[in-house]
Amino acid sequence: MKATVLSGVKLAVLAGFIVMPAMTAAEREAGGGAQASGVEPRSGVFCVTNRAPLAPGAFIKLPIGSIRPRGWLRHQLELEANGMTGHLEEISKWCKFENSAWASADGQGQFGWEELPYWLKGCGDLGYVLNDERIINQARKWIDAVLSSQEPDGYFGPRANKTGLDGKPDLWPHMVMLNVLQSFYEFTGDERALPFMTKYCRWLNAQPGEAFGRGYWPRIRFGDNIETAYWLYNRTGETFLLDLARKIHDHMENWTSGVHNWHNVNLAQGFREPAVYYLQARDEKFLRAAERNYQTVMGLYGQFPGGGFAGDEDCRPGYTDPRQGFETCGMVEFMHSFEMLTKISGNPVWSDRCEELAFNSLPAALTPDWKGLQYLTCANQVALDKANHAPAIENGGTMFSYSPFEVYRCCQHNVSHGWPYYAEELWLATPDRGLCASLYAASEVTAKVGDGSTVTLSEETDYPFGDTVTVRVSTARRVKFPLHLRIPRWCARPGAKVNGKNISLKARPLSYAVIDREWRDGDVAVLQLPMEVSVNTWAKNHYAVSVDYGPLTFSLKIGEQWTRYGGTETWPEWEVRPATAWNYGLLLDGRDPAKSFEIVRERGSLPANPFTTENAPVTLRAKAKKIPAWKVDRFGLVGKLQDSPVRSDEPTETVTLIPMGAARLRVSAFPVIGSGSKANEWTEPKPPPVSASHCFANDTVEALVDGIEPKNSHDQSIPRFTWWDHRGTAEWVQYDFTKPRKISAVEVYWFDDAPNGGCRAPQSWKLFYRQGESWKPVEGAALFGTKLDAYNHTAFQPVETTGLRIEVQLQPNYSGGVLEWKVSD
Ligand SMILES: [Zn+2]
Repeated sequence: MKATVLSGVKLAVLAGFIVMPAMTAAEREAGGGAQASGVEPRSGVFCVTNRAPLAPGAFIKLPIGSIRPRGWLRHQLELEANGMTGHLEEISKWCKFENSAWASADGQGQFGWEELPYWLKGCGDLGYVLNDERIINQARKWIDAVLSSQEPDGYFGPRANKTGLDGKPDLWPHMVMLNVLQSFYEFTGDERALPFMTKYCRWLNAQPGEAFGRGYWPRIRFGDNIETAYWLYNRTGETFLLDLARKIHDHMENWTSGVHNWHNVNLAQGFREPAVYYLQARDEKFLRAAERNYQTVMGLYGQFPGGGFAGDEDCRPGYTDPRQGFETCGMVEFMHSFEMLTKISGNPVWSDRCEELAFNSLPAALTPDWKGLQYLTCANQVALDKANHAPAIENGGTMFSYSPFEVYRCCQHNVSHGWPYYAEELWLATPDRGLCASLYAASEVTAKVGDGSTVTLSEETDYPFGDTVTVRVSTARRVKFPLHLRIPRWCARPGAKVNGKNISLKARPLSYAVIDREWRDGDVAVLQLPMEVSVNTWAKNHYAVSVDYGPLTFSLKIGEQWTRYGGTETWPEWEVRPATAWNYGLLLDGRDPAKSFEIVRERGSLPANPFTTENAPVTLRAKAKKIPAWKVDRFGLVGKLQDSPVRSDEPTETVTLIPMGAARLRVSAFPVIGSGSKANEWTEPKPPPVSASHCFANDTVEALVDGIEPKNSHDQSIPRFTWWDHRGTAEWVQYDFTKPRKISAVEVYWFDDAPNGGCRAPQSWKLFYRQGESWKPVEGAALFGTKLDAYNHTAFQPVETTGLRIEVQLQPNYSGGVLEWKVSD
């Protein structure tokens, strides 16, 4: 037997010599390709792979149905089937078959946008990976309707989308529906699918290039269509699909030159586009661009544990604390991107990143019974309430509490593909006719390998809660094939045995170990991935720390008090509030911080759902002290982190940390307790020195003095102050000083969101200063300007005062606001 090690880079090179395909259940699949015109299918592996001239890709997806998830992953999928995804037709107005524009042959009806395809994308695959007839039939009903809705020109589905963007097509929802059809075809081999998709892509290809640069969502997300075009090309050999992919790439958002849009879901699915296009362009700069995009986003906004980033709708400068949220849609799209990038690049870092999100963030986005979800999950989040947290959270309204209903419109539907897609990617086919364990979870995989023999590998493991992965081989005859095993970045000393004998694995972290041998029925390979505690310091977030054990990150165990606030008996809505203290800083061993933790493992078999506070299979014990001044702030959020180390005179306590994915209330980025002259005092934030006659609930008076410079008067990317929805009234806003200041000028930057919004520069305004108990107008001012896109400078006879007040008369029928207000001596 031979054990070799390949780095991701080497493997990508190795992938060059793929030879000759045969057929499996993917046999059905490959059949479509065999009859098509054009380029010959690439040979070598036993499932559909990239045709020339596309680059081969490092790994190949196995046909859906080849992998049967077991253990906790299967349980999550069953919860999903019994919970929201399996029953969304009962509770979502977008999933009502009657009168849906997606369900009618003529494309007429209600609701033809992204919601239904979002749900169907996960629902179909959920049925396929569980082989659940009810779910499969539920999805099938919709897919049959879609397949019968095609127009002679190739367009299908909701006709309203055909003119949805100022008379031009809105091409975004169809991107998602094409993903639905891909999986449907992979599972069923239905012969309607490929001609249908090809006809639609011909229609798409007949669109002018500008069509792919149009629309806020489509422009950013057209990489999804490029992936579909390659998928279809690999099965049909229709070369126009490569022209289509190139045309899309040339006209859509340019992700190759950097990040130009900061919406969290756009980032999560858009950033990968250059790497997808790399398959056609075969220039490594495209692979590097996807990695650079990831690093850019994470470097600025992902400076805390959990694998997500601060994008509580958009990433916003200044909002980078771990209390910022990551949308559930962003989570599952990011995971899907990582799964794609593993196959394209062969770099195991993408699977590591996928596991990081899957284990540490996704479970907490949902109730343990999969009957409700939240829009935003934060690394530090100490109450899941339905209150408005804007503008500390960008969106107003309910974002944190658990609900199965339309309050979380997109996520309610899109969350469905997270676990099913994950389950389909546990095992991958390799170009050297072997199999790769890409994401570790208990499962069984059946595939052709080596000389074409069919083998079944059963993977037994408690991973990520255990460090042993046992693979049993079932095969009718001896067969030689390589077994590729991903070595995660955190695993310094992996070990392996075959049939009880140690084999030498000189595998580095972030590589694939390969056991290439002749396998017999009953052979057993055991991989050991020893886990160690490690402590990460987040220098960009005030030197907070997070604690990892293998792929798991740990959060403080906080008592959860669940209160039902709405919904029904079957579909309740929940708030979760802390029943125990959460404001702890950790006491760390100065020489070796990792030594500060005691690992406690629960005995016995893994609970069906390990992602709950009670069921956590692994916990850590640590020493900590309370930080009394660390509190929930006036936005109802956990207070922002301050510089560690932090002084605390509180007694030392022993606290329990649980896996972050099991912690729905969570502190995962911890302050560090220090002492002596280097320790900092934690200061309670002072109330802002500004106040107003009225401020809109989603805005903040603090915006006036936050020092963030507006780009123009309609800059919606920064916090603002507005008097909305007071219209046409007289209003004021006031600036208080702690001690008297001599002031001789002010500068005011007005907010104005014409033509669509309701705010304009005021009709007129005046400036007053405080003298004793009363307000006096300043003297000698020549002008109280209302120009837009600039500061309005007003100089006056100097005054010594403890406060200034702007009084405005709003324009009739309009409100108004201020982006920034500066005062000077
Ligand atoms: Zn969403």
